[in-house]
Amino acid sequence: MSRKGHIPFRRCVACGATRPRDTLIRLARLDGAGVVVDEQKRLGGRGAYLCPTRTCVDRVTKRGIPARAPRAGAGWTLSAETAGLLRDLARGDGDGQAHL
Ligand SMILES: [Zn+2]
Repeated sequence: MSRKGHIPFRRCVACGATRPRDTLIRLARLDGAGVVVDEQKRLGGRGAYLCPTRTCVDRVTKRGIPARAPRAGAGWTLSAETAGLLRDLARGDGDGQAHL
């Protein structure tokens, strides 16, 4: 069902980079469930996209998703569970930094 030739791009809420949607992590805010990682990219609710890098994951797990992010509405706060899952998904940025 995938249409080739048209790749949807989305903006990362942490760094503002625009990347192909397939390369980004989708977060969804669900009523009653808070912010979850939408691994199948098919959950409803409000979505936000994030680079799968430690830099961007660190930014949102420490500070939440800023209210200025598209469609985020008021800022999002991630649960410890969601933050942990994001860290599992994050790849290193190649700079080898460990600043925790
Ligand atoms: Zn990013």
